[in-house]
Amino acid sequence: MVGTKSIRETTKSWVEGTLRSLPIPCPRCSRKTKAEDHCQYCKAKWTKEEITLVNKQRKELEKATIGYMILKFLEEQEWPSTTEDTANAVGVTWHTAQIHLFKLQAEGKIKYRKVGRQNQWWLVRKYEKEFSKH
Ligand SMILES: [Zn+2]
Repeated sequence: MVGTKSIRETTKSWVEGTLRSLPIPCPRCSRKTKAEDHCQYCKAKWTKEEITLVNKQRKELEKATIGYMILKFLEEQEWPSTTEDTANAVGVTWHTAQIHLFKLQAEGKIKYRKVGRQNQWWLVRKYEKEFSKH
């Protein structure tokens, strides 16, 4: 279960800081920076439009990162995970996890089964392995 620990460790540090400062290319020199309103490389102080652009790119990257973390988490689990398990592991709210899980499902990467009132999520590969033997 080293994998489970590693994903928790990773997500912990990610949620506690890295998430808000993902490196984004500077609109002036294209070098990747974690700064929010300036570039430490070309020393540019960004305009309002450039800051908006950087924030937008950072948001896109955050979204992709959440999806990636969810896939990593499901990859490491032996059993399917509920939305709540996934939210806890990745460090996002239940609602956010739900949005990303359905997005990944729409992309054909994961599947779910309704068990009682819960959704249980599987990587497609694991789902097919589990349900093709019967
Ligand atoms: Zn720059």
